[in-house]
Amino acid sequence: MWFLIFVCVSMVCGVPIKNPPQDDVAAATDNVIAVQEKIPAESKGVNVSVEQNAETLEEFQDHIVQEGDILMPEDRNAVETLWLAGIVPYEISSELANREWEIQTALKMISDVTCIRFRKHTNEPNYVVFKDGRGCASYVGCRGGDQPIFFAPHCAVGNLCHEIIHALGLHHEHTRKDREDFISVQKQNIVPGRENNFKVKEGETLNLPYDVNSIMHYGQFFFSKNGLPTLVSKQSGEEMGQRKHLSPLDIKRLNKLYHCD
Ligand SMILES: [Zn+2]
Repeated sequence: MWFLIFVCVSMVCGVPIKNPPQDDVAAATDNVIAVQEKIPAESKGVNVSVEQNAETLEEFQDHIVQEGDILMPEDRNAVETLWLAGIVPYEISSELANREWEIQTALKMISDVTCIRFRKHTNEPNYVVFKDGRGCASYVGCRGGDQPIFFAPHCAVGNLCHEIIHALGLHHEHTRKDREDFISVQKQNIVPGRENNFKVKEGETLNLPYDVNSIMHYGQFFFSKNGLPTLVSKQSGEEMGQRKHLSPLDIKRLNKLYHCD
């Protein structure tokens, strides 16, 4: 899995990840809004096939969300860092009290296979807050202060796990620069205006192989305008777009990123 970093102006969280590509610098905006990643195809007015458990589709038009579910920072000097010592304090907002079991399950999907630990927030300056919202969405990396992870009613545990991994510092796998060896992007099928979701980015790969099975990889119909695939795997037997579990390489990536060894 690869990840990107923005220009670091203050070390509020811990270890800075790396220098970002310029095209990842965010558009300025004041508000953080969750994006709806899993809307019914019918509501889009197009015949879109949506895999079960897949996050899909819509991002807001105001550029606050970069790739469907990645919330963009509100300034150009944003910080993306790892969580200090691999410990992520968290809060669950009151409207999600009845979904705590799902949140705990998503956290456990990560803590069971890595050294990353999630602890109820007390007085730490940096922490995540699980909030209700219109979609599943997260910033990438530790942003400093209280940062939201949105968990809408239609988001499944696996979708939430995907968002938590964004918050830990990982971007989408399918935007790696070596992707062409493993997948092909069918640009003619992408919803107009969503092409950026498929843009290749410069970034770190942690020297790990490309992973079509990653929980951070888009599925084949994500952002399809016509029900035809937007991503096609060049290998067979893959689970592209799965949101059920961390792949073996997801586990390696997180362990490497957080120096669990
Ligand atoms: Zn995502």
